[in-house]
Amino acid sequence: NKGLLEGKTALIFGVANRRSLAWGIAQAWGAEGASLILGYQGERLRENVEELAASLPKSAHALCCDVADDGQIEKFFAAVSERSPSVDLVLHSIAFAPKEALEHEFSEVDRDDFRVTFDISVYSFLAIARRAKPLMSRGGLLLTLTYYGSEKVTPHYHIMGAAKAALEASVRYLAYEMGPLGIRVNALSPGPVNTLAARGISGFTQMLKHHQDKAPLRKPVDPAEVGATALFLATEGAGAITGQTLYVDCGYSILGA
Ligand code: NAD
Repeated sequence: NKGLLEGKTALIFGVANRRSLAWGIAQAWGAEGASLILGYQGERLRENVEELAASLPKSAHALCCDVADDGQIEKFFAAVSERSPSVDLVLHSIAFAPKEALEHEFSEVDRDDFRVTFDISVYSFLAIARRAKPLMSRGGLLLTLTYYGSEKVTPHYHIMGAAKAALEASVRYLAYEMGPLGIRVNALSPGPVNTLAARGISGFTQMLKHHQDKAPLRKPVDPAEVGATALFLATEGAGAITGQTLYVDCGYSILGA
């Protein structure tokens, strides 16, 4: 049986370990035959990410790419163009805010912490989109990950909520720009999942429990469900969906007070 993504090449940014949402998506795309290139943040993650890459059905390449550094992004894309003449799918599953920034009140976030948060969590999506665009001559999908704290107040999430709002607006502007090229741009907005990044938000454990108790489906979000939704968005069936933030949150976001 031919996989749904056979013949497609995907770039995946944001696998740190097997709990990473990017890993759930890599597995879903890989299982349907996509060839994957994983971009990881730094040498510290190399061994782990290479091991994960080798466990995929079609073995994947792993290349270092710290998105804070334009030079590393250029190098990453130069290596990608050598391996693959075209790219079809790109996942940006990256966010960062300095720990101190999340520990302070929102109004106390300083200029440097604000800048770093928006640089890594928002600008990097544009930086990646710009380099991917010329390789996506067959059209395709740029996908990022966001959270409901962009829209409604979630205690302790503040600076990241502001960054996610900017990221979702960026999805719409990129979708507008790239639509004529057949490139769709979307965001997935999962409910809380216990990952490295999530554990940086204080009160995360209570948040996880609250979602599980209150969401209409009364269960936590399984990263495999995020993967399955990303797979749908990568297929022709989603060919008319662009510029959207799609909730994968067991219905939590429909609730009022
Ligand atoms: P994670 O810690 O597994 O992934 C975050 C990734 O960002 C890591 O792989 C890390 O290496 C990468 N990263 C950070 N700074 C980087 C840099 N300078 N260069 C390159 N990579 C860098 O956690 P996750 O929860 O899988 O997070 C992935 C995305 O999902 C994030 O955008 C996060 O905001 C979003 N999200 C997470 C949840 C959740 O509850 N876990 C919910 C909604 C959205």
